[in-house]
Amino acid sequence: MFDVVIIGSGVVGASIAYELSKYKLNICVVEKENDVSLGASRANSGIIHGGYDCVENSLMAKLNVEGNILVHQICKDLDVPLKNIGSLVIGKNDEDKQVINDLYNRGINNNVKGIKIIDSKQLYQLEPNLNEGFTCALYCESASIISPWELCIAQIECAINNGCKLNLNYEVTEIVAHNNYYTVSNGENSIDTKMIINASGAGSIKIDELLDECDYQCKYVKGEYYLLDKNQSSIVNHVIFQTPNKNGKGILITPTVHNNLLVGPTATNTTSDDTSVSSDGLQIIAKQVNNIYKDINLRENIRNFAGVRVRSLKKDFIIKESTKNKNYFIVAGIASPGLSASVAIAKKVVELVSVNNQLQQKETFINTRKVIRFNELSENEKIDLINKDKNYGRIVCRCENISEGEIINALNGPISISSIDAIKRRCNTGMGRCQGGFCGVKVMEIIAKHQNIAIENITADKKGSYIISNVTKKGV
Ligand SMILES: Cc1cc2nc3c(=O)[nH]c(=O)nc-3n(C[C@H](O)[C@H](O)[C@H](O)COP(=O)(O)OP(=O)(O)OC[C@H]3O[C@@H](n4cnc5c(N)ncnc54)[C@H](O)[C@@H]3O)c2cc1C
Repeated sequence: MFDVVIIGSGVVGASIAYELSKYKLNICVVEKENDVSLGASRANSGIIHGGYDCVENSLMAKLNVEGNILVHQICKDLDVPLKNIGSLVIGKNDEDKQVINDLYNRGINNNVKGIKIIDSKQLYQLEPNLNEGFTCALYCESASIISPWELCIAQIECAINNGCKLNLNYEVTEIVAHNNYYTVSNGENSIDTKMIINASGAGSIKIDELLDECDYQCKYVKGEYYLLDKNQSSIVNHVIFQTPNKNGKGILITPTVHNNLLVGPTATNTTSDDTSVSSDGLQIIAKQVNNIYKDINLRENIRNFAGVRVRSLKKDFIIKESTKNKNYFIVAGIASPGLSASVAIAKKVVELVSVNNQLQQKETFINTRKVIRFNELSENEKIDLINKDKNYGRIVCRCENISEGEIINALNGPISISSIDAIKRRCNTGMGRCQGGFCGVKVMEIIAKHQNIAIENITADKKGSYIISNVTKKGV
């Protein structure tokens, strides 16, 4: 019998697992996909927002501002890339100025630190490549950029190192409520647990319905992106937002922690699982980008992708214990700024859990994690490392300078993985200009050898995305 089953291993489920693994609890995370962070948590803008945008007194505002502060220590402890580059909402006319002023006042009410309104001279000092004609901006010092999937992976790995169990490829399809415990099942294997935390993102309503409850509605809004090559990232120094107007927020432009430039997202209503990219969506982005920076060249595009926001119609996060089923906790409608708030959301869940359940802290909690990033080492450090382990001397991804040693490290990690993209999310292989065109096959060979599985069983990404179907030439 587990004390807690967490359904979903996006950044919210991961943060909750991390936070709860500080206590003497038997925890199991169940995830329907073949790796963690395959929902909204991998396809977003990767911004740790300041918190001036959220409606005053909302849970979103409170947890965004708290999360923005707390995430720094976790990133330090768990070696997750985060850069505190600040953000700007840029404006042109009197109408924009009024909106910027309103955002500033909201930020002050939400307790956002380090925000100020700046004039055009200050703006162009911060962003010299911006097109002419912008007259003012809201500067937010506390906004950062992060690798969202690495935050998720790091927290789950840390939770596992502290005793938490992770069941991948486990889609919850059945829940039976008993007197004082639950049975969760995927149709084949069942798990008994005293508590359930529903952190299943776009799947939250389906999970609620398994227990005959759901008192909220969500809508699904797709956001599409261009990811541009590294040669574009020096054009922009901060996270750049346009001033929202009656047509919406428009696209944003931001450097990424891996030194690419991200442009998007769009906002189109969709079904919960539609992450396809459309030419219409990309055109919306293309129309806006050069109105902000004429120098950005979308031909330097290395990838397009889309993520789906799950917005509660109540326009706030839903974080509560069910009134119908004791010890069933619902964490739903976690749209943007859910990534920014995730660490604070987890603390809020622990608070709720501890109302019915006495939580005892572990005497020992392993709270560190170190990732070797070969391309960040000095020449001497590289030589030392290669002398210790020759695998670091073999560069597999030439665009990003990633060694075989790093891939083997990822395969030796606490989460069992067997897809090319799982390696990409852990060590950045295939993140460069060729997008894995050269290193993909080599990565497959390393996975197959290391995991002792047939190469045909390796996927590009999610379940079923096989690359090799059968042998065409025997004996080659
Ligand atoms: C386009 C876009 C841009 C965004 N930009 C930002 C940003 O810049 N900053 C920010 O703060 N926030 C941003 N967000 C919001 C942020 O990405 C989300 O709030 C956050 O990722 C939600 O995390 P989650 O864990 O709730 O959901 P998810 O990451 O979707 O995780 C849910 C998990 O549950 C699993 N699951 C579902 N059903 C089941 C089942 N039946 N059994 C087992 N597992 C199941 C899924 O496979 C998934 O892994 C953005 C979102 C989008 C889509």
